[in-house]
Amino acid sequence: MSDRSSLSDKHALVCGASAGIGRATALALAAQGARVTVLARRADRLEALIPALLDAGAASARALTADLDDRADLAQRIESLLALAGPVHILINNAGGPPGGPLLQATEEALLTALGRHLLASHLLAQKLVPGMVEAGWGRIVNIISTSVYEPIAGLGVSNTTRGAMASWAKSLANELPPGVTINNVLPGFTDTERLSSLAEARATSAGSTADAIRADWLAGVPEGRLIRAEETAAAVAFLVSPAAGAIRGVSLQVDGGRMRSI
Ligand code: NAD
Repeated sequence: MSDRSSLSDKHALVCGASAGIGRATALALAAQGARVTVLARRADRLEALIPALLDAGAASARALTADLDDRADLAQRIESLLALAGPVHILINNAGGPPGGPLLQATEEALLTALGRHLLASHLLAQKLVPGMVEAGWGRIVNIISTSVYEPIAGLGVSNTTRGAMASWAKSLANELPPGVTINNVLPGFTDTERLSSLAEARATSAGSTADAIRADWLAGVPEGRLIRAEETAAAVAFLVSPAAGAIRGVSLQVDGGRMRSI
């Protein structure tokens, strides 16, 4: 990982890259010299990220404005990307998490939207991009999921359900992909991003509390005693996509400051 050109001949596509863990991951892969394509809905945020990616060390940087909820459009945009920039060797599946609330009250639409944005978009991207990885004899897929894969989180039933599906999808693919092409998951804990701030605000409103009190409550269960920085999560992703991690396949790596209790 100290070799800052370890990904210099690789093209990475990072989804949900306009903020939080996705943005930090794009910068981490740029620092390893990759060609980086950043995907999200907000063109202005992506364009603002391009100079930062080049400064960090990216061989080149490209913005791909797309909505993971619109898979027909996404498929076309990915075809255009492949025609323009060549095969993608590293795919980071990542998107905003579903809203919270009691599972029993969740609508069918809420479940379908979450499964579409996470599972179906990842599936589409894998179907489009894995052939290029296979041809290159080298590929990496990392899914940003959640510790709820192992320990469902209270009040996040739609998210828990979707994360479980993602983890099973990834483990199934890990058995199908050929040698040299790996898939793994990173499971963030409480990570200091816009997503976490909005969750804290929502919890505070429903509990008649403050966001600071909610955060303090969360951190009481984290042995590391602090929020995780998105850069720390990105460092785990960067390791999993590195050439050195070629034997790591089908794992879920939590980056949660020790919050998960199960082994
Ligand atoms: P975030 O909300 O800060 O960033 C999400 C990114 O995804 C943004 O760039 C956003 O624009 C993009 N995005 C959202 N919907 C999209 C769509 N339909 N199409 C394209 N792009 C879309 O989130 P984050 O905190 O960085 O979290 C990333 C993932 O990790 C999420 O799935 C989140 O639920 C999960 N996670 C986060 C935490 C945490 O504490 N932050 C904890 C556990 C799991």
